[in-house]
Amino acid sequence: MTSDFRGTLGPRLSQAAEADLRVLANELTMVVLRNDAPDARFSRLANTKLSNKGFYSISFRHLQIDDVADKVWRTAAPLKCKIFCWLARKKRLPTNERRFQHHLAPSAACMSCNHDEDTDHLLLLCPWALEVWTFFYSDYATRGVSRMSDLWTSMCRSFEEATITTAILWNVWKRRNARTFNGVDEDLAFVSRRCIEDIRLWAHRCTTPSSSSALNNWCNGSDPPEVNMPPSPLLSPPPPPSTVMIPCTLGFIYKVVQAGASPP
Ligand SMILES: [Zn+2]
Repeated sequence: MTSDFRGTLGPRLSQAAEADLRVLANELTMVVLRNDAPDARFSRLANTKLSNKGFYSISFRHLQIDDVADKVWRTAAPLKCKIFCWLARKKRLPTNERRFQHHLAPSAACMSCNHDEDTDHLLLLCPWALEVWTFFYSDYATRGVSRMSDLWTSMCRSFEEATITTAILWNVWKRRNARTFNGVDEDLAFVSRRCIEDIRLWAHRCTTPSSSSALNNWCNGSDPPEVNMPPSPLLSPPPPPSTVMIPCTLGFIYKVVQAGASPP
């Protein structure tokens, strides 16, 4: 083998490369193949194309796969919602408890009920979250879901259920953020309607018609009451028709200039 190797490459190599090749050839003569050693090339031996996925499978095959991963990542939800659920699974959401631990908040208390706001409380146990879950599942209280791990086990037994659960979690999170950061109290009708709209939209992402129609059927049976959105004390009233909005360089700051006035 080594002589063939040298015979094929030798004429085209520089002196330095020739020397390297000689060293390599000598090293190879000492290599003893062991048939009992694990073969990392199984994807090639199985006649499948070598891919990044295959490489990662081989590299991390010694790690145990999270049994919830499949439920989190195999839904019709957009990627940002899946990442949100994965962060919730790993207890990495910026809850008040976590922000307090990192000296980013003055207290770990929930803005709605003063209980310490960890992931389970925020998404499942807070009265504001509980209200949403109970709206969609009248028997929710009897299911005994008090931890996120219970949620994935008992309420995500199929692709459709996992999609619905993701939508509810996502909208509970948005409701909490609206209250915490914007001072807006989104009422139940508003949140549940937005949740259903999300699921109807996500149903278009299903790869099978049966999943899509199952999600739409679920939405049809969960139509919420009319929205009654209370005005927010922090929301600005719409500008009068004689004004135009000009975005400033700071991005979040807008300056209202009377129409017809010259810009600064
Ligand atoms: Zn709370």
